Amino acid sequence: MPDTLPAPPDPDAVLIDSHAHLDFRPFDEDRDTVLEHAAAAGVAGIVNPGVDVASSRRALALAAAHPGVVRAAAGIHPMGSGGNVADALAALGDLADDPRVVAVGETGLDLFKKYHPLAEQRACFAGQLRLAAERRLPVIIHCREAFAETLAAVRAEGFSQLRGVLHCFSGRWQDAVGFLELGMHVGFAANLTYPRAAALREAAVRIPLDRLLVETDAPYLPPQKLRGQRNEPAFVRAAAVLLAALRRAPAAEIARATTRNALALFGGRPTPGATEAAEPGS
Ligand SMILES: [Zn+2]
Ligand SMILES: [Zn+2]
Repeated sequence: MPDTLPAPPDPDAVLIDSHAHLDFRPFDEDRDTVLEHAAAAGVAGIVNPGVDVASSRRALALAAAHPGVVRAAAGIHPMGSGGNVADALAALGDLADDPRVVAVGETGLDLFKKYHPLAEQRACFAGQLRLAAERRLPVIIHCREAFAETLAAVRAEGFSQLRGVLHCFSGRWQDAVGFLELGMHVGFAANLTYPRAAALREAAVRIPLDRLLVETDAPYLPPQKLRGQRNEPAFVRAAAVLLAALRRAPAAEIARATTRNALALFGGRPTPGATEAAEPGS
C-alpha cells in the first residue's frame, strides 16, 4: 500500500497514465487494488505497453479484463532486441490484429544500458516501425541517450511523419525538437520531479500543449517524495502537477490537454465502416 493517495479530483482533472507496466510482477499481489487506487485518484485510463511477446500478451489480457480502463500495446523493448527477433516480430504482428491493441511498443534504442549492440537494437526497432505503419498504429518509443540514433533510424525507414510518443522523456529541449517535427508526442513521468532533472524541466516548459502526455512508467520512477516505493498509476498526478507549475498553467488545463492528447493517440482504431477522413492521421 502506498502511504499517501491523492484525493479524488474534480471531473475536470481526470488523467490518463499513458505508460504503466501493470503486467509486471510487483503488481501480482494487488493488481485490482492498484486499479482501484487509480480510479479513486481520477486516473481514467492506463496504457500498458509490452516489453516482449509474453508481456504484450499479458497487457492484452489486462485490457480484455478491464475494458475501457486498460489499453494494451504490443512491443519489444530494446533490452529484448538481441539476436534473431523474426519470430517475436511475427508474434507481435498476430497480437496487433486484436483491436484492443492500440499501439506498437515499447520499442526504441537504449544506449544508456547498452543491452545489445546498436545494429541489433536498430533492426528490432525498424521491424516494429514497419509493423506500426502497416497496422496504422501509433508507436511508443523508448529512447535513452540515443536521440540522434533514434531519429536517424526513423528517417532511414522513410518516415517524415510518425504518430506516437517519445515516452518517459529524459533529454534536453534540443533532443525533443526532431521528434516534435515528426509530429510525435512527448511523455513526462515523475523523473521530472527529481533534483537533478533541471534540463528536463526546462524542456517540459517548451513542449507544445497539444503534444504533452503524462505517465508513470510504474512500477519504476516514483515521484521524488515517494522514492524507494513502488510507483503506481494513481501517482501520475505528480507529473501533471509539476508540469502545470513549471508552465504556470492551471492544473486543470494540463489535465484536460494530456487526457485529450492521450485519447487522440491511444483511443483505439476507427470503428469498421468509419470514413477515411475520420481515421487518425496516417
Ligand atoms: Zn521505456
Ligand atoms: Zn516502460
